[in-house]
Amino acid sequence: MPQYSIYVSCNQCGGEHPMGVGMYLEHGPQDKKSIRDVYHGGALPPQVSAIADHPCLCLKTGKHFTQEDDNQVFLVPVGWTALQ
Ligand SMILES: [Zn+2]
Repeated sequence: MPQYSIYVSCNQCGGEHPMGVGMYLEHGPQDKKSIRDVYHGGALPPQVSAIADHPCLCLKTGKHFTQEDDNQVFLVPVGWTALQ
């Protein structure tokens, strides 16, 4: 089963940060996609919904933020960035 990392757009610095969590998804995307693009606003797998509104740490400002926009939360296949 493919493994994914979760990245979020940061509303503190405008960058993107890894949430530091990984998950296995049977029907995940082939490349980096937002949660909205993958699930179209429908029901999320439990492991995705568990992290979707989890607070993230901004690595640049040191502040915590919560990204509630599912267009700004990304599933990134592990290994995908290494292929760029
Ligand atoms: Zn940030």
